[in-house]
Amino acid sequence: MRFRAAVVPERGRIEIREFEKANLEDNDIIVKVLLAGVCGTDVHLVYDEREEPWQEFKIGHEWVGEIDEMGPLAPKADAYGNPLKYGDRIIAYPSTWADGTCYMCRILLQPNLCLRTGVGRIIPDMGSAYAEYIYIPGESVIFRIPDDVSTEEAIFIEPMAGALRAFERAYAPGVPDRNQGFGPGKSVVIEGTGTIGTIMTAIAKMSGAYPIIAIGGPSNRLNMCTEFGADMVLDIMDSTREERIQAVREKTPHKLGADVVFECAGVPEAFLDGIRMARQGGSLVEFGHYTRRGTIPIDPFEICEKDIQIFGSWGYGPQEFGTAINILKASRSRGIDFSKLVTHRFQLKDAQQALETAYRQECTKAVIQC
Ligand SMILES: [Zn+2]
Repeated sequence: MRFRAAVVPERGRIEIREFEKANLEDNDIIVKVLLAGVCGTDVHLVYDEREEPWQEFKIGHEWVGEIDEMGPLAPKADAYGNPLKYGDRIIAYPSTWADGTCYMCRILLQPNLCLRTGVGRIIPDMGSAYAEYIYIPGESVIFRIPDDVSTEEAIFIEPMAGALRAFERAYAPGVPDRNQGFGPGKSVVIEGTGTIGTIMTAIAKMSGAYPIIAIGGPSNRLNMCTEFGADMVLDIMDSTREERIQAVREKTPHKLGADVVFECAGVPEAFLDGIRMARQGGSLVEFGHYTRRGTIPIDPFEICEKDIQIFGSWGYGPQEFGTAINILKASRSRGIDFSKLVTHRFQLKDAQQALETAYRQECTKAVIQC
């Protein structure tokens, strides 16, 4: 049987092609993709200039699907013990992202840093979700989506898992632990107001952080951040960097700056601003650079003198998928509806338009109905 999937043959161009369904290996699952999300990283992968020669690739790592076929040795239950059957809606932490067998996975217990990432045996696999079908190796960590979580909410499990990992990085580090790190009543700056920045805002709100300051634009995105819990928003189009740093300081005791800054904008200057917006002894989590975006000169004195903690955050483990599902289950009773973040919907044949809309930042989250 043949099915359609998107490929990116050259910079800025998406093409829908037909593929032949491969044979199912013994423990694999074939998933019919219900919804795929357009991620900021997808936009960078398709539109950013590159130094190295272009290589065609398939696209899409945010998806929600329905079990279409199961090999005879496919897992009979998900990671939480829920039985799995044909037609169930699932999401997976794929074994092609963390193989579960390498030194990082097994010994250091950091699957987000897997040494064998991308080693899959079936194409198109998990990194090609702008497609009608994808293959999931049976060794993946599979989660059945609870009935009370809609498909449009579930599309946020994957990006939310990344956001949760970034929050974990900012929890009280080491000793002393009193009044350190992220938590209830802590002042937080979120640089970047795309999907990730808005999710971070919502989780900060659910966690009791205060004040929550979101920085970005354009105004449609800032309004969304306000709706999702930001106490103050700063528009990068009508303020200077110095004014924004000052505005953050005005909101914090002794004008010292925020307890925690999350850089989710993917702009090198935002990293430097983040150092300046964090208080003495505060934390900065760099979470916006999943692709190379250029460099910025930094005076190391600023880092020393501030006694600041700077963390990188890359990917997530399957644990954060489980936590994200719990957050989605809790969200509506907390007055937050994540499905509102889906502002634009496209058919698979119009994947190019979906990417362009995201490139122009007209959407918060664009999704592709596959
Ligand atoms: Zn590994």
